[in-house]
Amino acid sequence: MKTRYIPTFLLALFLYSCTPKSSYDILITHAEVIDVESGEILTDHMIGIKDGKVALITDDYSGNYKADEMIEADGQYVIPGLWDMHIHFRGGEELIEENKNLIPLFTANGITGVREAGGDMTSTIFEWRETIEQGQMVGPHIFTSGPKLDGPGGTWAGSIPVNTQEEAVKAVDSLINMNVDFIKLYDSRISRDAYIWILEEAKRRGIKTSGHMPFSVMLNEAVEAGLGSVEHLYYVLKGTSEEEEAVTADVISGQANFWGSMDRLMATTTEANETATFNLLKDNDTYVTPTLFIGNTLTYLKQVDHSNDEYLNYVGDGIIDTYQGRIRSAMRASEDYTNMRINLNNTFVNLVPKLHKAGVKLLAGSDCGASNSYVYPGTSLHGELQAMVDAGLPPIAALKAATINGAEFLEVDDQYGSLKTGKMADLLILNGNPLEDIRNTREIGMMVLKGKVYTKAEMDAMLESVRK
Ligand SMILES: [Zn+2]
Repeated sequence: MKTRYIPTFLLALFLYSCTPKSSYDILITHAEVIDVESGEILTDHMIGIKDGKVALITDDYSGNYKADEMIEADGQYVIPGLWDMHIHFRGGEELIEENKNLIPLFTANGITGVREAGGDMTSTIFEWRETIEQGQMVGPHIFTSGPKLDGPGGTWAGSIPVNTQEEAVKAVDSLINMNVDFIKLYDSRISRDAYIWILEEAKRRGIKTSGHMPFSVMLNEAVEAGLGSVEHLYYVLKGTSEEEEAVTADVISGQANFWGSMDRLMATTTEANETATFNLLKDNDTYVTPTLFIGNTLTYLKQVDHSNDEYLNYVGDGIIDTYQGRIRSAMRASEDYTNMRINLNNTFVNLVPKLHKAGVKLLAGSDCGASNSYVYPGTSLHGELQAMVDAGLPPIAALKAATINGAEFLEVDDQYGSLKTGKMADLLILNGNPLEDIRNTREIGMMVLKGKVYTKAEMDAMLESVRK
């Protein structure tokens, strides 16, 4: 006997599976959605968010959509939440509270993810990360390297000293056990051998690396040993010089040092070496974090008066005290040195569009944190995006450097970095088109972080919560 009867449980299942398709926690309608992967604008689109994830992106308004929260975004632009790919929490026990108070500065400015590039408060950072992910504190997703690796007696407090191959293996193992997201190498005291051993061991263990590079190492040696991202442009500049090998030899023999080599490197850059270096970086999938904004800030410490900076009201006095180190050395620097820094900064600015044109993947990082004078969490990432565009990068490339590229570097692009169904609902609703004017990344009308809506007023309140 045939029947059209559908068992109740099947009918219920059918209805159940239909209902969630049109019902969301949040619906953002009539938005211009910037697809940072294709570089295209999806016009008049609707974004559905459910359980903290992007559940729908469509321009088909014919369905029967329902949501607890409807956001009309007519004439507004939606981008993924911005990631600052180079920040620091640091300064010792007594600055832990002040570092914690930097967290609202990120979210108040639409920064939904940070790559913390080494410091001396690792266990505290892990606690903050846990508290944030559990929803007990509002903050960006934190990815951290834990302590930096350096040679014995390294500059930064908390760094793990590595001198022998055995120590390199042990250090990488201890960081993996700590559950860090990547390894940060620093170059104040590390030997050439120790540096390469760490890179080789990290590659063997399958953990990403990022770093400075001692000038006793050639750029191609670091890249070929597996350096995942090059922080700052000194090392890229070194690779573009015809005299890279000679400079390296002089550093090894003690006849030259890092800062003393800059004029020579700038004077011996050739187009052929640039091309070879850019290809090297591209072919090895090595990312570059130019940190232009901090470059502009520190280069002109002597000339620019920061005493009326608005953010001095929001950063703790202990952290502001740490700014004095770099200010003092800038003030007592010779004229030659000051001029060298200006030339160097201009050289770096010129490198950025060339790197982009050559297909090297860039990361947007501000290097904000204690000791890095007047580079404030949050606003400095917007400054970095603007500096990249001022240097000649197309705005979409700058946006990629602060979204999808970061997620790809950290290998979490299945969850973050772009607005795709299934990914985390971290986004900014902007009042203007950032592809027309990158300064529009600052014109945030609303933020969605882990599927929760924050109005502009709520974001301003985050900032005010840490006013001194
Ligand atoms: Zn740094």
